[in-house]
Amino acid sequence: MDSGPSLPASAPVVIIGGGIIGTSTLYHLALRGVEGVLLERKKLASGTTWHAAGIVGQLRDSSAQTELGKYTARLFRTLEEETGQSTGYKQNGTINLALSPVRHEQNLRAHDHAKRMGIEAQLLDAQALASYWPWIERDDVLSAFYVPSNGQVNPLDTTVALAKGAKSRGGQIFEDTKVQRLEIDKGRVVGVVTDHGTIRTDRVLLAAGMWSHHFAKAHGITLPLHAAEHFYIVTEPMDGLPADQPILNIAEERTYWKEDAGKLLIGGFEALGKPYGADGIPEHFEFDELPFDLEHVSP
Ligand SMILES: Cc1cc2nc3c(=O)[nH]c(=O)nc-3n(C[C@H](O)[C@H](O)[C@H](O)COP(=O)(O)OP(=O)(O)OC[C@H]3O[C@@H](n4cnc5c(N)ncnc54)[C@H](O)[C@@H]3O)c2cc1C
Repeated sequence: MDSGPSLPASAPVVIIGGGIIGTSTLYHLALRGVEGVLLERKKLASGTTWHAAGIVGQLRDSSAQTELGKYTARLFRTLEEETGQSTGYKQNGTINLALSPVRHEQNLRAHDHAKRMGIEAQLLDAQALASYWPWIERDDVLSAFYVPSNGQVNPLDTTVALAKGAKSRGGQIFEDTKVQRLEIDKGRVVGVVTDHGTIRTDRVLLAAGMWSHHFAKAHGITLPLHAAEHFYIVTEPMDGLPADQPILNIAEERTYWKEDAGKLLIGGFEALGKPYGADGIPEHFEFDELPFDLEHVSP
């Protein structure tokens, strides 16, 4: 112990986990004048965050969530001006196809919801859809819902930008610092024990992603959160695929399609997800990828 960073003796808030959630929270606390401490067992974004497709949608089921989505899209633009660190945000828009009456109804509702929430959106006719995605077989498409101000970010760069913004306002980040357990007194947290010492605090945010379930369980708390593997395919570079190609979502096929460095990335959500890490996440996990499972994905 103690060849690493020197931790503060106490902190108003300790955040466990340096993924997008922990880092964003540290940044937003700092914006409000709270100088929190973030602890990350390996490197920032080395859990799930670095690997995300980074698709940014604003329209959600509730108005509150949609306001949050709008705020986030704005933040991805302003964060670079503020910190000098690019988030890689590009506003290439999203198109949601409906191949069934239920999804068509959902597209119509989303269109109304967008209007109410002040988000520019369009229902594309066949010709307009063809101009954005000429490769689509359009015979079974009932509607296509386009939101031009949605887009995609580079999640790793975004995490670094949030960290930079937080640190410039007094937030502290310690990498290679694993939280081992919470210290509890009379049912309330009083400290966070790490492999580099203990920090006294009465406020802790557990933002440890797929590690959170086991961490909480060790403290007698059931957290209904379980990791599942996520699969995608990347093509070879494709001629004629513009960098601002809108992201395509096809709910009936459970797929999303996006441009990724001149290639096409196709991600999917299976009808029956494949759980990951039921017995815990391997200790060495850091920027890791899982083996491709063709048998599971091919349906
Ligand atoms: C291939 C793929 C594509 C995706 N695409 C999208 C997308 O397009 N849009 C979208 O919104 N989401 C997407 N996601 C989901 C998104 O990546 C996650 O929801 C998000 O990154 C979770 O962030 P997090 O901060 O909760 O967790 P993580 O990024 O996993 O961060 C948790 C951190 O906690 C640290 N930690 C754990 N235990 C401890 C401990 N005891 N002490 C200290 N530190 C600890 C870990 O090392 C890790 O860095 C995608 C995910 C994948 C895998």
